[in-house]
Amino acid sequence: MAGPRHTNGARKRSTSAARSGGHRAAAGNGTVRAWQDDPLGYAPPPLDRPIPNLALAPLKLRIKGTKVPSGAYAPGTAQFRYWAAAEALRRGADFWAPLLGVHRWQPGAVLRVGLDEGDDLNAYYDRSELAFFHSSAGGKTVYSGESPDVVCHELGHACLDAHRPELWDAPFIEAGAFHESFGDMSAILSALQLTTVRGSALAAVKRHRSSELSRLAEQLGWAIRQTAPAAVDPDCLRNAYNPFHYVDPNTLPDSAPANRLCAEVHSFSRVFTGAFYDALSGMLRIRSSKPSAADLATVAADLGRLLVDATGAAPVVPSYFAQVAAHLIDADAARFGGKYRSALVKAFVGRKIIPQTAVDGVVAVTAETRREAAKFAAARMVRPAPRIVTFQFSAKDFGLGDRPLHVDAPIEQKPAHTLSVAITQERPHEDDGAAHASARRFVEVLFAHHRVAVEPQHGARSASPEAPHRHTHAVVAKGGALKLVRRRFDCGRG
Ligand SMILES: [Zn+2]
Repeated sequence: MAGPRHTNGARKRSTSAARSGGHRAAAGNGTVRAWQDDPLGYAPPPLDRPIPNLALAPLKLRIKGTKVPSGAYAPGTAQFRYWAAAEALRRGADFWAPLLGVHRWQPGAVLRVGLDEGDDLNAYYDRSELAFFHSSAGGKTVYSGESPDVVCHELGHACLDAHRPELWDAPFIEAGAFHESFGDMSAILSALQLTTVRGSALAAVKRHRSSELSRLAEQLGWAIRQTAPAAVDPDCLRNAYNPFHYVDPNTLPDSAPANRLCAEVHSFSRVFTGAFYDALSGMLRIRSSKPSAADLATVAADLGRLLVDATGAAPVVPSYFAQVAAHLIDADAARFGGKYRSALVKAFVGRKIIPQTAVDGVVAVTAETRREAAKFAAARMVRPAPRIVTFQFSAKDFGLGDRPLHVDAPIEQKPAHTLSVAITQERPHEDDGAAHASARRFVEVLFAHHRVAVEPQHGARSASPEAPHRHTHAVVAKGGALKLVRRRFDCGRG
């Protein structure tokens, strides 16, 4: 693709409307106009939607700056972008709020949103706010906060942080990659809250194909490709329909073009998101041999429910993907009597996230065994006990001064259940020594990608070339040592 596609007639009309100055096209009528999917030309035309109330509890949001009067504005205007972002924020938060059962964000009762925090192809969540940016690429100005995919991805970080704050400090590639995957899954599940998106995506999900639903952040991906063609997929930022299988991320290289996996968290996240899209497709076919758009809505809600159950119960450990996958399968047993088990097993075994041997014999079972398994799983869907381990590395190994570098890790423990027992047997090295090695590899990759802010007094040989808001972590002084702390989940080009 050479540039943004303008094959969509509605988009061409939008551009001429934008030139007219962004005045409200209609009296408002209790609606605002917003994108149904990413603004790039794949997307269907804007939709009139009920005016979103960002102050609605429990997950309240507030866009910084002056509130724009509601109305049906023309795409290309700041007013349109304001309401497009507000609509996506409210839709995503309304999807997650009843599932999460939380009453506040990590930053507090209200999550602030900055729609244009400066010049960058980027977006982040930093436990203070969601931040979006603008930048020029290919002769066009792109606003990351205009894309419902990007907005609902960032919102996903904030939702998962409200639900599972322990992941914030987890210094493991799989924990960071899962946070990114959760953002992409949030974008897909939030998009499926729209009737029109369900209608257009139904055939692709049923037949398990790439689609405008599986392609995420097409416009931001296009903008990044203008200067780094191999850094992202050829038709989007990341695609949930992808060919990637699990390998130990500690064995992957620091960097790779988008058509290969590397140890960077956005790259590796695609393994879990791929399994999620496989599972969505398989669950839809279990629900009905001739599924309707309403069936797709039900399956999306069920999968969202299972994700919340699984992330609540899965212990934070280096092999986090397998733990979440195993708990998803158990959550299905506990909540739905194992209705979706074959689809979930096929997805996660197929992606090599959990080994075949761990699930042998657990799919084809009698009704009685299934009931017993459901009871057993339900009793174990409990939150694990936290344990904070501090790993010590030599700061010199990362180009810093001759001092210890401390990295805290929440390593959780819980009673084993059927699947986790089998997985533990498959991976007997899952102990503190392995966690130390995983944490070290995580820190190496952060430094390789210039993601760590280091003050000169801490002995950095050279300043990070990345802008301050691109740093996901910082090194701070604590006692006689240095300590690594997380600052944000940053979601632009890695
Ligand atoms: Zn992200």
